[in-house]
Amino acid sequence: MRLVLVGAPASGKGTQANVLSEKFGVPKISTGDMLREARKAGTKLGREAEGYMNAGKLVPDEVVIGLVDERLEQPDAAKGFILDGFPRTVAQAEALAGLLERRGVTLDAVVQLDVDRELLMERATLRRTDKRTGQIYHLKYNPPPPDADLDHRADDREETVAARLDQYDAMTAALLPHYEQQGLLRRIDGVGAPEQVTERLLAALGQKVG
Ligand code: AMP
Repeated sequence: MRLVLVGAPASGKGTQANVLSEKFGVPKISTGDMLREARKAGTKLGREAEGYMNAGKLVPDEVVIGLVDERLEQPDAAKGFILDGFPRTVAQAEALAGLLERRGVTLDAVVQLDVDRELLMERATLRRTDKRTGQIYHLKYNPPPPDADLDHRADDREETVAARLDQYDAMTAALLPHYEQQGLLRRIDGVGAPEQVTERLLAALGQKVG
C-alpha cells in the first residue's frame, strides 16, 4: 500500500494515518512529525525549519523532499507507506514521483479528508496533547483527565491555525487537480467518529471493512 493522505490541519489525517499504518503494516511517514522531532533535538535542520513552522509557513521544498528521500531508504518503507502531510505542493508531488520512479514503484491512491473550515478551527484551537503520554485530547469533545500535563501546539493557536488553513486552501487548489488528472484522487467526508472515517477510507480504497 503506497498512499498519500491529504487533509487540512486538524482534519484527522494523523489519526487515520496511524490506523492505516497498523492495518497495512507499513510505516506512516509524516513530514510534520519528522520536522517537530528535528526541532526538539535542535539539529541544524530543526533550527532551519523552526521559524517557518512557528509562523505556520511551509518549510522549503528541498528540505522536506530530502527528508522523505532519506526516510524511503529505510527498510520498513520497502513494502509501502502512508504519507501524511507530504506532498503539499505540486513541486513536492513531482519530486515524489521521481523518488518512487527511481525505486520502481508507484502510488496506489491519494485520499483527501474533507472537513469544513469552522470545524477545523475548533478542532485545532481546542486540541491538547498530554506531554507525558502523547495522548491527544479535545477540550470539548474528548476532555483530558484532571491530572494530564497538557501542551498546546504553538501552531495550533488561533492566528496560526487561520494562516495554516489559508495555506492549505492555496495548496490544495493546485495539488488536488494534479492528482485528479492522474486518476489517483479519492475524496472522503472527514466529519464523524474516527472509526466511521476509517470505514469510508477503506471503502474508498476498495478494501474490505473490518
Ligand atoms: P503538520 O503536522 O503536517 O501540520 O506540519 C507542521 C508544519 O511542518 C507545517 O505547518 C509546515 O511548517 C511544516 N511542514 C510539514 N510538512 C511539510 C511539507 N510537506 N512541506 C512544507 N512544510 C511542511
